[in-house]
Amino acid sequence: MKNPDAIIVGAGPSGLACAASIGALGLNATVLEKTNAVGSVWRRHYDRLHLHTDRGHSGLPGMDMPRTYPTYPSRAQVVEYLESYAARFGIQPVFNSTVVGISRHGALWRVDTGQTSLSAPVVVIATGLADFPFRPTWPGSDTFRGNCIHSSEYRNTSPYIGKRVLVVGFGNSGGEIALDLANASIDTTLAVRGPVQILPRDLLGIPILTWAIAQKSLPTGVVDFINAPIIRLAVGPIERFGLRRAAKGPRRMIEEDGRVPLLDVGTLAKIRDGSIGVRGGIDRFTPEGVIFAGEGERKFDAIILATGFRPDLRGLLGDVDGVLSEEGKPLVTGQATSQPGLFFCGHTASPTGQLREIGLEATRIAALAKHHAEGSPW
Ligand SMILES: Cc1cc2nc3c(=O)[nH]c(=O)nc-3n(C[C@H](O)[C@H](O)[C@H](O)COP(=O)(O)OP(=O)(O)OC[C@H]3O[C@@H](n4cnc5c(N)ncnc54)[C@H](O)[C@@H]3O)c2cc1C
Repeated sequence: MKNPDAIIVGAGPSGLACAASIGALGLNATVLEKTNAVGSVWRRHYDRLHLHTDRGHSGLPGMDMPRTYPTYPSRAQVVEYLESYAARFGIQPVFNSTVVGISRHGALWRVDTGQTSLSAPVVVIATGLADFPFRPTWPGSDTFRGNCIHSSEYRNTSPYIGKRVLVVGFGNSGGEIALDLANASIDTTLAVRGPVQILPRDLLGIPILTWAIAQKSLPTGVVDFINAPIIRLAVGPIERFGLRRAAKGPRRMIEEDGRVPLLDVGTLAKIRDGSIGVRGGIDRFTPEGVIFAGEGERKFDAIILATGFRPDLRGLLGDVDGVLSEEGKPLVTGQATSQPGLFFCGHTASPTGQLREIGLEATRIAALAKHHAEGSPW
C-alpha cells in the first residue's frame, strides 16, 4: 500500500468528514476501518433511533442531508446518508483493518494494523466511543440472575415483552429506550441518580439546536439564565414525578461535565402518565432486582445500563506523550495537539450538536493537516 499524506482511523461520521475535508484540500488520505462498512456504529444502534438533532444541522461538510428526509432522520437514513457521502467524495476505506498501534518515527506517524503498517505525516483518530461502554458496578452486581446489558447492546423491545425492566441513566439513550419499552406496554422503571436537565426537542416549532446555535456567541451563564424560565415553561414541573431539576444550566452541564441534557421525544409524557416509573440511585443489586437508596428491594427481570461511554485510547497510542488524560481520553479534539500531525476528531459533546461539531472539527483539522503535511520534510 502506498504511503498517503494522511491516515484516518475510523469510517464513521468523523472519519468520513475528515477524509472529505482533507481530500478537498488536495491531500491524499487513506481511511482504515476495522469493520466492513462505513457508519458501522449507526448500523448497530437500536431500531427506533432517529437523530435528536435536526437534518439541517446534522450534515457533514460539503453535502447536506437530503431534503426528502424528515426533520429528524431515522437510523437507516443516517446510514444511507453516510454511504452516499463516502461515494460522493470517492472515499474508499480499507475495510477489516483494525488499527492496533500508532507511534512516531521521525517526521512520520506509523500506523499498525497487525497485518501491515502505513506511515504518513498526519494521522487523525476518529474511532468514536462505541468500543468503550461504561458499565458501573454496584455491590451484588454479579449476583443478579436476570439479563443485564449496556444500552449499546439494546436493539428493540422483543426480548423484554412481559418482563420488568430497569433502565439505569437519564441521558438520551436511557430516556429513549425507556420510552421504547413503555410504548410496548412493558413494565419500565428509570433509575435516575442525580438532578437532570430536560429540553424539548423543538421549541415553538423550531428545533432546539437552532436556538442553541443562535445563542452560541453569548456567554454560557447568560444563555442558561435567559433560557431557564423558558425551559421551565416548555417542560413543565418535573419534581412531583421523582425528578430533580439540576441547578446547573444545560449548556454549562455539557461544557463542564460533558453531559448532554435529555432532548425529550416523549419520555416525560410517559413518566407523567405513570407508564415509566422513576426511582433514585441504586444502592445494591440483589439476585432478583435492586435496592434503591433509602428503599426496599424491587424486582426486575432485566436491567439496561444507559450509563454512557468512557473512551480510553492508551492502548492505541502506547508511548505517545501529552495527548491523553490519565484515563486515556483525548485532551483536545478538532484542533492541534501537542504532537505535530496527530489529531482527534469527534471526541467531545457539544451544545450545538455533535454531528455539526464533527463537521466543524473536520474542516479545522484539514486546514491544519495541509499546513503540516506541506511543511513536512519526508
Ligand atoms: C445512540 C446515539 C445517538 C446519537 N444521536 C446523535 C444525534 O442525534 N445527533 C448528533 O449530532 N449526534 C448524535 N450522536 C453522537 C455522535 O454524532 C455519533 O456517536 C457519531 O456516530 C460519532 O461519529 P464518530 O465517527 O466520531 O464515531 P463512530 O460513529 O463511533 O465511528 C467510529 C468508527 O471507527 C471505527 N474504529 C474504531 N476503532 C478502530 C480501530 N482501532 N481501527 C479501525 N477502525 C476503528 C469503528 O468501527 C467506527 O466505524 C449519537 C450517539 C449515540 C451513541
